[in-house]
Amino acid sequence: MTEPTDSPEYRRTHAPGPGSPEYEAMDSLAKLFERQVDELRGNATSDSTTKYFDILPRRDASFPHRLLTTEGVSVIGDGTNRAVEVSGAALEALAYEAFKEVNYFLRPAHLAQLRHIVEDPESSGNDRYVALDLLKNANVASGGVLPMCQDTGTALVHAKRGHRIVTDGDDRAHLWAGIARAYRDLNLRYSQMAATTLWDEVNTKSNMPAEIDISMAKGDSYEFLFMAKGGGSANKSFLYQETRAILDESRMLDFLREKIESIGTAACPPYHLAVVIGGTSADFALKTAKLASTKYLDTLPTEGNSHGAGFRDLDFEQKVFELTQTIGFGAQFGGKYFCHDVRVVRLPRHGASLPVAIAVSCSADRQILATINADGVFIEELEHEPARFIPETGLASIDEASPAHPINLALPMDEIRAELSQCSVGTRVSLTGTIIVARDSAHAKWRERLERGEGLPDYAKNHPIYYAGPAKTPDGMATGSFGPTTAGRMDSYVEQFQAAGGSHVMLAKGNRSSVVTKSCHAHGGFYLGTIGGPAALLAHDNITSVEVIDYPELGMEAVHRIEVVDFPAFVVIDDKGNDFFTEATKKPITLRTRPSV
Ligand code: SF4
Repeated sequence: MTEPTDSPEYRRTHAPGPGSPEYEAMDSLAKLFERQVDELRGNATSDSTTKYFDILPRRDASFPHRLLTTEGVSVIGDGTNRAVEVSGAALEALAYEAFKEVNYFLRPAHLAQLRHIVEDPESSGNDRYVALDLLKNANVASGGVLPMCQDTGTALVHAKRGHRIVTDGDDRAHLWAGIARAYRDLNLRYSQMAATTLWDEVNTKSNMPAEIDISMAKGDSYEFLFMAKGGGSANKSFLYQETRAILDESRMLDFLREKIESIGTAACPPYHLAVVIGGTSADFALKTAKLASTKYLDTLPTEGNSHGAGFRDLDFEQKVFELTQTIGFGAQFGGKYFCHDVRVVRLPRHGASLPVAIAVSCSADRQILATINADGVFIEELEHEPARFIPETGLASIDEASPAHPINLALPMDEIRAELSQCSVGTRVSLTGTIIVARDSAHAKWRERLERGEGLPDYAKNHPIYYAGPAKTPDGMATGSFGPTTAGRMDSYVEQFQAAGGSHVMLAKGNRSSVVTKSCHAHGGFYLGTIGGPAALLAHDNITSVEVIDYPELGMEAVHRIEVVDFPAFVVIDDKGNDFFTEATKKPITLRTRPSV
């Protein structure tokens, strides 16, 4: 008797096995059913999310470039074995050229934004003055002798090496050698401190180490982003560990207003500001913010998807940009242009975390792209003729509209202070005479003197103190690039030094804490803000001599005496308890929307 084919026993013993057409058809039906159930429950794991994708999918990596060299680049093998061999010398030559270029030249788009500030009728007089100064500084730096800023930065390299690029494996060492040569042979500054113990440091006298980050990619090209990041600018990178509660437009704007205000002006605005919302880790959020501030992520998609790719939100960028125009800081001394532009990148996140990262690229907007492929070594073309961005009217119209108040620094300190006391905060002054230069390490030494009961040196009592540290002096010049450093780092010394009869007039960049305002009020002191960024211009036009007078072992942090002529500054804190930046943020500013750049 034949067994019925629909009996349980028949199905058990005759079930199609793996590999049979029936089995495979049933299996895929079962998987489809499972996926649909998962999707309905919100647990989808479709192929499109499990398959690899780039979280930061740049849609276009092209850039205006020039051929640097074909030497050291050759094609080896063919067909599926074809690869591009890159010598160590080619990597070294590229790194040298990159750090030479970024220290003397800027991108044309950045210069066009400065020109826009000069021409915008809504810019404040101080916005225009700063923008024009920065354009003139770019022009001086483009001579290739004085770097655009005295802080020539920490060298950072972000690279992606295609799987068909062949090297000797010492890529970092070759890049390192090129960077070290640039800092050694050019008029750049050594800013890196090595810790010899937990508390003791020495300058490495080479500006090394550099930070070199190389990741893998597919293909036969090697992509680079080189950055020279100054300390002031790097210090304005912030991470906030927030929660889902601020994922709402108006709450996020309130949150960002407070955080952006706290950036202040110490990193030499106008800024290229980047905000990253989300991130699979805190460090990835911060790194993405740094990359976005360099425009490296400009070609990200502008819409999100359900897989987790990062994207830019152009509408929100415009809203944050408008917010920055109402803060009042402007391009350092009041006005509209706290920022040139804003980038907002949204990243995926763990459901329990919401990192928000903020970073800026400062007025030394130093980054350059490069590619090595079968055709050679290519580097981004920066602007070598920045003078074409300087309006023909130059400074004349600005000077006529608000002439600077001259201050003679040859006078005794009490008379200098009496003169400054006639100027309200925000007044532009022009200084001529002697200034003492001292920054972090010299301030620590002076404090040790005070604590030993030796008092402050006379020079700290008789002259204004400029917080700065120069780059190397080029042959035949009085000084190297010599701009201000961040004033806030010296805040904790001010009360003690002013009470001891010194530091009555201070010059530097950025805003200061209320401790300084109170001390100036109590001791008859002043803080003058100098424009942060145009260090080459100050060296070229305003500083006539430089001499080390104390603590020579501190290198660029030694105490210097400098003679200046028409050195530009603004009264930021006066002897009556006024602080320009506090006043600026109190004023509500309403502005029209600026067309996007
Ligand atoms: S422009 Fe200002 S923030 Fe930027 S590197 Fe120079 S001093 Fe530092």
